Amino acid sequence: MPREKFEEIKAFAGNKETPCLIVDLDKIEEQFDSLQKGMPFAKIYYAVKANPLDDVVKLLVEKGSCFDIASVYELNQVLALGATPDRVSYGNTIKKAKDIAYAYEKGVRLFATDSENDLYKLAQNAPGSKVFFRILTDGSGADWPLSRKFGAHPDTIYKLIIMAKGLGLVPYGVSFHVGSQQRDLGQWDHAISTCKYLFDAVAEKGIKLKMINLGGGFPSKYIYPTVGPDVYGTEITRYLKEDFGEDLPEILLEPGRYMAGDAGVLVSEVVLVSRKSEYNQYRWVYLDVGKFGGLIETLDESIKYPIYVEKTGLTQEVILAGPTCDSMDILYEQEKYELPLTLEEGDRVYIFTTGAYTQSYSSIYFNGFPPLAAYILPRGSHKEK
Ligand SMILES: *Cc1c(COP(=O)(O)O)cnc(C)c1O
Repeated sequence: MPREKFEEIKAFAGNKETPCLIVDLDKIEEQFDSLQKGMPFAKIYYAVKANPLDDVVKLLVEKGSCFDIASVYELNQVLALGATPDRVSYGNTIKKAKDIAYAYEKGVRLFATDSENDLYKLAQNAPGSKVFFRILTDGSGADWPLSRKFGAHPDTIYKLIIMAKGLGLVPYGVSFHVGSQQRDLGQWDHAISTCKYLFDAVAEKGIKLKMINLGGGFPSKYIYPTVGPDVYGTEITRYLKEDFGEDLPEILLEPGRYMAGDAGVLVSEVVLVSRKSEYNQYRWVYLDVGKFGGLIETLDESIKYPIYVEKTGLTQEVILAGPTCDSMDILYEQEKYELPLTLEEGDRVYIFTTGAYTQSYSSIYFNGFPPLAAYILPRGSHKEK
């Protein structure tokens, strides 16, 4: 984050009660534009769950983005904020029949599936809709793998594609998700090859698939860097062209983390600094935000947020924890963050790259702590470039 931008965020945070999340819409706009530039042929379906704030959704509606929704609640939100149903994909493979019927009634005609029973529900409640089929990936290489739960083996997907046609649906394409914060570009290569195999296999049965949904997985900037977004764009384009030639199928992207992660700064405060014994090497630093206040992705220390404090000088490794009375509310114990020895109660702590998967994950009044507050940084108050 550029220095001036951080100064602006700090000034805006002012005396606001902490913890709170400050969201920079300029950054979201920049991410949208750079992803679109990297893969100009692709249609972006923002994964709403990453950051469902109305202002974020509204901005993306204005930018012409499409939306990947997982529930009728997200559907209602994006429609209310101006997205038309032809810009919505119901990307959750786990849905109630009545929710499918509701989405269909609202005009949604694009659905994900990965099982026979879901396909029956779609045929009955969303007749004639376009369906895409999610293949299983193993999520290796990802900081936050989420793939085991979703998708099916390509052989099963093959059968589902054939079945879908028989049920009066339109078998439209294939999707996958390589796992969130995916560091290994080869995962896309592998998954795209599987798509190609399925395209060819069902073509022999007279079914012409038209679309590949490359899912999410595009990275944000946490403490261990990944290659830049431009490299993701170039490499993925190359994999696509290797398998499909110049005449690419319709390509969908479902970025969540990439779009919102870098756009958030969580402002927190030190509640307590302590040592477990006089000779214990480590100080415990307790913040006013923890796993239940929005930082659940520190589970198994998977996501490692960059953390910044104002004080400088001699630093020492610490254990970082949250404020609640659940003993799992420790942020980092294995990964050692170094913080100044002079750090004390009341000092502000800035947690970067918290624009995605934080506020919407924060609990409702666990230990009485309210859900994480979020503020939108006023736009245009500061001109970069
Ligand atoms: C969560 C999710 C995404 C977004 O993933 P990121 O790794 O955050 O980009 C995309 N598609 C689907 C179906 C999802 O469930």
